[in-house]
Amino acid sequence: MTQVRVRFAPSPTGALHIGGVRTALYNYLFAKKMGGKMLLRIEDTDQTRFVPGAEDYIMEALNWLGITIDEGQGVGGPHAPYRQSERMAMYRQYADQLLAENKAYYAFDTSEDLEAMRKRLEDAKVDNPSYNAVTRMQMTNSLTISAEETQARIASGAAYIIRLKVPIKEDIRFKDIVRDWVSVHSSVVDDKVLLKSDGMPTYHLANVVDDHLMGITHVIRGEEWLPSAPLHILLYRAFGWEATMPQFAHLPLLLKPEGNGKLSKRDAIDGGFPIFPLDWKDPKASEKVDGFRESGYLPAALLNFLAFLGWNPGTEQEIFSVEELIEAFDLEKIHKAGARFDINKAKWFNQQYLKQTDDALLAEKLASDASISNEKALKLVKLMKDRITFLKDIQAETGFINTEPSEYEPEMVASKWNDDAKRAMPIIINAFESIEEENFVVETIHNAVFKHLEAAGFKPGKVMAALRLAITGISKGPDLMLSMEIIGRNSCINRVKNAVNSLV
Ligand code: GLU
Repeated sequence: MTQVRVRFAPSPTGALHIGGVRTALYNYLFAKKMGGKMLLRIEDTDQTRFVPGAEDYIMEALNWLGITIDEGQGVGGPHAPYRQSERMAMYRQYADQLLAENKAYYAFDTSEDLEAMRKRLEDAKVDNPSYNAVTRMQMTNSLTISAEETQARIASGAAYIIRLKVPIKEDIRFKDIVRDWVSVHSSVVDDKVLLKSDGMPTYHLANVVDDHLMGITHVIRGEEWLPSAPLHILLYRAFGWEATMPQFAHLPLLLKPEGNGKLSKRDAIDGGFPIFPLDWKDPKASEKVDGFRESGYLPAALLNFLAFLGWNPGTEQEIFSVEELIEAFDLEKIHKAGARFDINKAKWFNQQYLKQTDDALLAEKLASDASISNEKALKLVKLMKDRITFLKDIQAETGFINTEPSEYEPEMVASKWNDDAKRAMPIIINAFESIEEENFVVETIHNAVFKHLEAAGFKPGKVMAALRLAITGISKGPDLMLSMEIIGRNSCINRVKNAVNSLV
């Protein structure tokens, strides 16, 4: 069997959309699963849409996610260069081959000519108004003017493009791995431009030529390219490459969170969630768009989330390491229906991954993010780990550790700061004072507080809510004993005294 070779072929026209990341991931999983190769090709033939910085962004995003490339841009390989703008001469040569075989033609129409044609066809209510097998014969091209005139025009420097001469009656039928059989008649395919007037190939020509030359066996890409697939198949036929044509798998759309319509950047901005892997600021726009990385997502959690947008293994298991994804991944199990982009699910995955991550690792990161000691960070991680979605939540939700409360939740005061509580607080202060500062740790605090309260005839459980109120000012929070250990003996004593004084 030939070795599987897949490619991720982004155009550097801006940040990589999360749908593009999913495409890269599916290509990667399939390549790894099959023991094949994953290529990266930069499709930058459309100079008008080129955005500086976009290529670096793509590389950085893949790198952050651990989607490694075996061959291609940034890595090199036998088919270099892998940036299409550096492969120009090659495309011209293939366009010339089709011209020589009468499978493509020169067209000299001006934009006014094309506009007039469009208007004429619309007025005549033609079903499929396009430059095609019928209408080409009414236009100015090498099929309607003589060979001498064609050469004379070219020699005089006239602007021209090269179009594919789409066969008039041909069935195009192919089996898409996701969508099953797709059948299109060539009469609905227009004579697509292959080479533009600036000498640049179009996406279609460059994409097919490169997939062929690079030995691509499977084209795995977004559903928005499905309408182009019949044209690509015609190109493989025109070149005589049909026998080694890749198989296609068109991935389902990512849908808006509500499930209707395609997910857009606007949805993300309005919904306050990221849609790009990394922060992105378009050099031409003022708006900065948030990335998953900077929002606090772990790469493995994001990959796990993305893997399930359009695929599932058919079992109940949801948490998959990348190795497990590779093992379980199957192109045949990709769904046809669009996948709803539910950011809450992404958050859920992040929570699960945080819980699984070693405390020491998280503490190290927190210590450097929050400029605190490793020791303190480790305690905070232990305290908060099960309650957070992102590591940065720890900083946001543990302000009470360093700041003594200046006010107290009124509903809690009303319901919990009762006579029992008021009588218990001096006892708790005594309990705290009975502990040496360096022994002020969960177990000792717990034992002292319980022992003192019980000796005075209190049920400790009944006054813990009041103690939390005195210590933090609020009703809910992480484990109280551990919070007090981190806060420290003196501040705890202070806090209870302050509460006693302010809450009469
Ligand atoms: N350059 C195209 C894109 O930006 C690639 C489409 C394909 O994979 O064929 O998505």
